[in-house]
Amino acid sequence: MSDQNGVSPNGHAAEDGQMSMAAGLNPTQDVFDITVIGAGPTGLFAAFYAGLRGARTQILDALEEPGGALTAIYPEKYIYDVIGYPKVLAKDFVEQCLLQAQRSDPTIHLNEEVLELERLEDGLIRLGTTKGERFSKSVIVCAGVGAFEPTRLDVPGVRELEGHGVHYFAKRVEDFRDKDVVIVGGGDSAVDWAVTLEPVARQVTLIHRSKFRAHEATVRELEASSVDLNYPGCAVSAVHAGPDGHLTAVEFTNAEGTVRRVECQELIVAIGFKADLGPLKSWGFELQRNQIVVDKVTMATVIPGVFAAGDVATYPAKFKLIATGAAEAVTAVNHAVTFYDPKARLDAGHSTTIMEKKDKEAAKAPAATPVGTGVG
Ligand SMILES: Cc1cc2nc3c(=O)[nH]c(=O)nc-3n(C[C@H](O)[C@H](O)[C@H](O)COP(=O)(O)OP(=O)(O)OC[C@H]3O[C@@H](n4cnc5c(N)ncnc54)[C@H](O)[C@@H]3O)c2cc1C
Repeated sequence: MSDQNGVSPNGHAAEDGQMSMAAGLNPTQDVFDITVIGAGPTGLFAAFYAGLRGARTQILDALEEPGGALTAIYPEKYIYDVIGYPKVLAKDFVEQCLLQAQRSDPTIHLNEEVLELERLEDGLIRLGTTKGERFSKSVIVCAGVGAFEPTRLDVPGVRELEGHGVHYFAKRVEDFRDKDVVIVGGGDSAVDWAVTLEPVARQVTLIHRSKFRAHEATVRELEASSVDLNYPGCAVSAVHAGPDGHLTAVEFTNAEGTVRRVECQELIVAIGFKADLGPLKSWGFELQRNQIVVDKVTMATVIPGVFAAGDVATYPAKFKLIATGAAEAVTAVNHAVTFYDPKARLDAGHSTTIMEKKDKEAAKAPAATPVGTGVG
């Protein structure tokens, strides 16, 4: 029995899990088993695991590079709490996540934001994106905090200097070698950048309004370093540019109201990001503080066939960590597989056994050309 959307009361696709195809679609090329929205660590692991389960998978991400927050916000910061790595640079971890995902040969579409999600009458899910339409039997939303928008410094002239010495996304340490760098902020990003750049830059100056909100060990490292610390009660009041339009100095006011000028070529503003789920808000999810409410057992959202994992998903006692996102991805993939194929096993067993079986099957099967794979 199915409702008017072609979905049975338990949410499964109608017709014994075999979805009929929307007009004009080639079921083997245009329709994926699982579409992952977001190529952060959760989305990359979901794509790998989906492949392990034999799902034909595509990943879509609005950013130009995979890695989500790790690539956009803290590529040169060390991570200490992911399994198997005592200490790993975020960008190196992303590289490994990508290699792992690629084992499953997903189609990866970068620079493509998903704007719409709609269940078609035959149970398929249509995704309207900045580049067209994508179709899928199930979807796993791994969209983190949505599109990243840095909180901008509210000082006249700063906007014009973006790309000319003012940075909201600092990516490469080498860009700051032998420069005078001012960093604004007191959270993890600001403190991490100050500690990371101290041995590389000519001089690092940190300006912050209140106390540091960063990891205690990093704050201790900062306090023992040569970074010129200006806090609490310090706020940038003006920026200056040279005739070439590049930043030359920053002025700030301290707690006593005294204005100090720091000559510099680079200014890193790390005063946080505005999290906005953007288009996801209108797709019909139950939302709680900018996150999608999911069933903790299945990671299912209220939309049949649509699951969520990682930072974007919420349930009681949620931890927003890379490790928990990976576990949620496994749960979401297993339930997605049994959604579009109710005959499939929920628990496919260990990767050791699955891979041995796959390798044996591959050795027996004649060589075949994969369809629609690669990075788009
Ligand atoms: C400074 C800092 C330090 C951190 N340190 C640690 C740490 O040490 N250990 C730890 O475990 N965690 C840490 N975290 C948290 C960790 O980064 C997150 O838990 C993790 O990134 C979540 O991964 P995700 O894949 O769920 O989301 P994200 O990494 O946020 O990735 C989401 C992706 O979805 C994409 N997206 C969003 N909306 C759309 C759309 N509509 N269409 C297409 N694509 C879309 C985004 O572009 C993005 O690439 C830290 C976070 C920060 C900010």
